[in-house]
Amino acid sequence: MAVTAKIIDADRERKEILSRYKAVLRACKPNIAKSDKKLIRHAFNIANEAHVEMRRKSGEPYIYHPLAVAEIAGKEIGLGTTSIICSLLHDTVEDTDVTLDDIQHEFGKKVSDIIDGLTKIDSLFDHKTDSIQAENFRKMLLTMADDVRVMLIKLADRLHNMRTLDAMRRDKQLKIASETKYIYAPLAHRLGLYAIKTELEDLSMKYTEPEMYRSIAKKLQTSKAQRNRYIRTFTEPLKKELKDSGLTYTILGRPKAINSIWSKMKKQKVSFEKVFDLFAIRIVIDTEPKYEKADCWKAYSIVTDFYRPNPDRLRDWISNPKVNGYEALHTTVMGPKGRWVEIQIRTERMDAIAEKGLAAHWKYKETNADTSLDNWLAKVKDLLQSPEANAMDFVDDFKLNLFAEEIYVFTPAGQLKKLPVNATALDFAFDIHTDIGINCIGAKVNHKLVPLSHRLNNGDQIEIITSKKQKPKDEWLNYVVTAKAKSRIKSSLKDEKRSQAEFGKAKLERKFKQRKLKINESNINILLSYFKVTSPLDLYYNIETGKIDLKKLDEFETKGDLLKPSRSSIERKESSESTTSSTKRKKSELLLIGDDLDKIDYKIANCCNPIPGDDVFGFVTVDQGIKIHRVSCPNTVELMSNYAYRIVKAKWTNQKEIVFLTGLRITGIDDVGIINNITKVISRELKVNIRAINVDSLDGIFEGTILLFVNDTKHLDILIKDLKKIKGILTIDRLSPDEYYSAS
Ligand code: MN
Repeated sequence: MAVTAKIIDADRERKEILSRYKAVLRACKPNIAKSDKKLIRHAFNIANEAHVEMRRKSGEPYIYHPLAVAEIAGKEIGLGTTSIICSLLHDTVEDTDVTLDDIQHEFGKKVSDIIDGLTKIDSLFDHKTDSIQAENFRKMLLTMADDVRVMLIKLADRLHNMRTLDAMRRDKQLKIASETKYIYAPLAHRLGLYAIKTELEDLSMKYTEPEMYRSIAKKLQTSKAQRNRYIRTFTEPLKKELKDSGLTYTILGRPKAINSIWSKMKKQKVSFEKVFDLFAIRIVIDTEPKYEKADCWKAYSIVTDFYRPNPDRLRDWISNPKVNGYEALHTTVMGPKGRWVEIQIRTERMDAIAEKGLAAHWKYKETNADTSLDNWLAKVKDLLQSPEANAMDFVDDFKLNLFAEEIYVFTPAGQLKKLPVNATALDFAFDIHTDIGINCIGAKVNHKLVPLSHRLNNGDQIEIITSKKQKPKDEWLNYVVTAKAKSRIKSSLKDEKRSQAEFGKAKLERKFKQRKLKINESNINILLSYFKVTSPLDLYYNIETGKIDLKKLDEFETKGDLLKPSRSSIERKESSESTTSSTKRKKSELLLIGDDLDKIDYKIANCCNPIPGDDVFGFVTVDQGIKIHRVSCPNTVELMSNYAYRIVKAKWTNQKEIVFLTGLRITGIDDVGIINNITKVISRELKVNIRAINVDSLDGIFEGTILLFVNDTKHLDILIKDLKKIKGILTIDRLSPDEYYSAS
């Protein structure tokens, strides 16, 4: 009986796999030539056979995953035959007996190179190793610079894994979701894949901040009808006029992503309703390339005939496309009932590029978007090849540059350069050439002499003044915002430091010689720990600059040609060793917080101030034991994605004796008795103590933050419920971690 059931199941599964395969072919049809079908079928057969015994975490046949990745690559990114073949095969080399040689033999060098790149990226993200992710990120970008399809398929792979993350364990979910927010979503953004970037961010938030995610999703659902009504009223008069003027167009209300609503709420410290008061509409025009610009402005003119535009909010990304190729006209107008409405105007081609990014560039080859992508990739390559050693810095700089708005400036010869907002004359110098940056002593902006740190404005014309004697200085790092300038200054400073250190080393050698000591590892280590520096380079450099006084060496006792460690250096070493062993012990276990607060070696992180009941995790610090953070802490993403191996699962146990500090923000109608009523309710609640209250009142609306001590979230929920009953109170929210930080 059981055997028959299994056979029927296997049969049904085979059918399901085939029908999914056919769905992929249908979805990718516009991008593949008929003659390529055979080759794709061949790739599918190989993958299907190779994965035949494997299952996903959800229990489904493994081949569903490569099929889904191929569908995303073809349908949502718009990639062609080569990428679809690579997507189908992307996990074979890593997880099955199929080798790269096999693949090259069947499909040629291009396909095997891409699979090789994908396999390498996977090994960079090997979740079992303790390697720091930032360095891997750098390697990943290098791989990407070879063939951008590697990164695009990797994004498709990650998107499908995020869509199916439910089957994973909670700690894995958190790690993968954090990594997605930290690395993949910014990359998708930079590559111009807006739809995928948005979905990755939303999915990531669904796992890192599930409650907030659900609450916003629910509110979106309930306000839908009302929104649609407003958009209809707004677009009604436009539609007729656009048609009469001869334009072919579609007009749609643009739904906002959950994560972007949440970001806005946090950034502007406003409620969901306030954020949602902003409506957004997109007009997409179907026209020929030569009329694109004129037709977009025509639509703009019609919109602004009906509604008054905010002149500060007009953006013309048609004349000057963004670096990632984005083109459109943006404006904000005053709609009915005094509400601001954001308008995006673009053509079908621009819309395809905005949604699908690069893949659409290939379709519309005649535009200049290709060269701007090539320029960007060249810049990435350039950055990666710089000798900047600290990968974390690199990632931060890189991310910084991802989102920066741009300004447009000119060289003396009238050549246009794009730089991020806040770029200085020094950034400009490094953008032109590293040597010009290094020797820069000043600049003339619009023929006026300015210092290196001078901030540039749109339309400035800049001439750089150099001197062969000039050398980069530490403070230059404060003058620049571009990743290129930063990394070049750092590496040049490092060279300078190295040459200074050479002198310092010579000094130490002379001193050692006097005392008949040898320069060897043991002696140097004793000095490093005594002077509290981390590397021999720092030691020598500090000797040369006088920060370390070599006279101190006279206090050391010696034994033969070796220094005897001083007492204080021994003590320091022991104390650091004891922390590591005690934290190591707990690494594999679930940390239970609450039963023995004094005995266990952990502390509550003061960046986010968790209280019992919060979703939390432990982070093993170098010298302060384990710190407990809220999963919603602003530092979580960075900690999880860079130091996953130092994360300890943590859970609260029941205990009532200890109180925790937390904060609430309350808004309401200002009324003489309101503060009195609030404090009354709080003090009536058992064991709740107020630590501080801050109240602002403006035009009859009052807003206050209250810091108070509670036992746990349950306790806090009861209190919030009671407070909401007070007359005049409009909203009560718990302070988010970063707000708490600024309030306390
Ligand atoms: Mn995969």
